[in-house]
Amino acid sequence: MSRIFLSSPDVTDLEEQYLVDSIRSGWVAPLGPQVDAFEQEMADRVGAHHAVALNSGTAALHLVLVSWGVGPGDFVPTSTLTFAATANAITYTGATPVFVDSDLSTGNIDPVLLDEIIGKLKAEGKSVPAIVPVDLLGRCADYTAIAAVAAKHGVKVLSDSAESLGARSGDVLAGSFGDAAILSFNGNKIMTTSGGGMVLTADKDLADHVRFLSTQAREPAVHYEHKEIGYNYRLSNLLAGLGRAQLARLDDMIAKRRAHRQMYDDLFAGVPGVEIFQRQGDEHDNCWLTAIVVDSATAEWTTSELSAALAEDNIESRPLWKPMHLQPVFVDHPRSVTGTAEALFGTGLSLPSGSALGPVETTRITSAIQAFFERWS
Ligand SMILES: *Cc1c(COP(=O)(O)O)cnc(C)c1O
Repeated sequence: MSRIFLSSPDVTDLEEQYLVDSIRSGWVAPLGPQVDAFEQEMADRVGAHHAVALNSGTAALHLVLVSWGVGPGDFVPTSTLTFAATANAITYTGATPVFVDSDLSTGNIDPVLLDEIIGKLKAEGKSVPAIVPVDLLGRCADYTAIAAVAAKHGVKVLSDSAESLGARSGDVLAGSFGDAAILSFNGNKIMTTSGGGMVLTADKDLADHVRFLSTQAREPAVHYEHKEIGYNYRLSNLLAGLGRAQLARLDDMIAKRRAHRQMYDDLFAGVPGVEIFQRQGDEHDNCWLTAIVVDSATAEWTTSELSAALAEDNIESRPLWKPMHLQPVFVDHPRSVTGTAEALFGTGLSLPSGSALGPVETTRITSAIQAFFERWS
């Protein structure tokens, strides 16, 4: 039986057509008309003024922080419940990530803890130039509260929207929160360019500087003058073509993921001790991944047992992100934790949610989960 992944790429003839067109146009290098069009279409889609396409979401986080002058000696609070890329990018600059715990119902950064830890760091004389809230699994963070905290302390907000493209909160779309936001188009994200990312911002100078840094910081001189350290982070024109096709299908892909969430909701309805994570108020989420949270005392089974049963049928599932403050590499890093993210890590399990899953796959998943229930009852 072929493996069912959590979130595998969903590509059609449209993607093939865009790629072929890119190749035939002769623009195979990491610049060209597809990159320009992709940036414009994405900026329009999320309501941002400027967009810079890069070769990963991690690169996007890194270059915004570099452009803001974040570096050694700085402290940058971020969500502890995130993928390592967020913390890694902060670390590349020489700054220290500070891990902040989650709100229980969304898993997103707790603005009260955020406020306290910035206050504490500043009282110790530390420099806190920026914060990086993350939109976990496609749910926007509480940017109203975050903006108030940021204004109070005079820090910049870089929104890590790698998982939340297509989601919104109020009238604002993921990708246009904060002073800048980033997207990821990695292979497992809601849409993919194989690998890629983007910086979105209303700040033209920031966008220009990120673009400049991403192509080795070449000054406009025929002999390539360099006054700053640059990076090789630009997105290729071929992959931007793939991105344009995916963007044209984004709403359709989100609708499929939402239908999978409904399927899990129906499947686990009435199962004691199980809740669909982030289900409450999810009408504007992109449903990138659907996870369950299990109270094993009530359910009388654990997420590891369900996960092992699914693995027997070659179906992937995965705990929620292991919090960064529990990762060996960040063990000595400052944190403000209450145990919420750790509890979510212990009780949450992400289930296959990709838009490429068709009826054959969803039937396999449903049967495997039902068989698991029967074994336990
Ligand atoms: C995927 C992801 C990233 C990194 O994106 P890449 O394109 O893989 O570099 C950053 N932050 C979060 C929260 C992510 O999920």
